[in-house]
Amino acid sequence: MLELRNASMYAMYLDGKTLREVGEVFNITMAAVRKAFVRDGYKTRSSAEGSLLKTNPRCKEMYAMYHSGRNFVEVGKEFGVGGATVYTAFRIRGWPTRKHSVNPKVTFNGQTYSLTKVGYYSSTAKNDKTPLLHRVIWTHHNGPIPEGYVIHHIDENKANNDISNLQCMTNSDHGKHHDSLNKWRESLR
Ligand SMILES: [Zn+2]
Repeated sequence: MLELRNASMYAMYLDGKTLREVGEVFNITMAAVRKAFVRDGYKTRSSAEGSLLKTNPRCKEMYAMYHSGRNFVEVGKEFGVGGATVYTAFRIRGWPTRKHSVNPKVTFNGQTYSLTKVGYYSSTAKNDKTPLLHRVIWTHHNGPIPEGYVIHHIDENKANNDISNLQCMTNSDHGKHHDSLNKWRESLR
């Protein structure tokens, strides 16, 4: 019975409640909750992880990063927390997460592209003149990319290469656009 109680306490904790809040529900002290978790081998959050979960602006920032194609662990590293905490932060806010991480490989016109660390799909062929899939797809629809122009992902997800998500911009407009996105993100803090 005790184990069952601990499991429900832990479920509550994973839903973002603090040790203290869980204790209040079960009418035991915060220390007793922690002790029960440690004894049963449930992992507890660091105080940094706990406070991050409560901070909406930081979580929004994490979500934007996640949405740009990075996984929970990679996002967590940037914020000094574990991947599980990142996942919890999104889940308790009802923010949808990817079922699986983005496909590691996709094909387009018979060529295979693999997801790179920075979030773009890149050709697996050696010496491919146009290795980046978003450039290939835009060109496929619109013809060659003019000199001095770049292809921007409108939703900031570098792995979302649907043609509706690709915008051709001058290099300088693109820089300004990302600057303003960064400022917006800064304002959420
Ligand atoms: Zn861009």
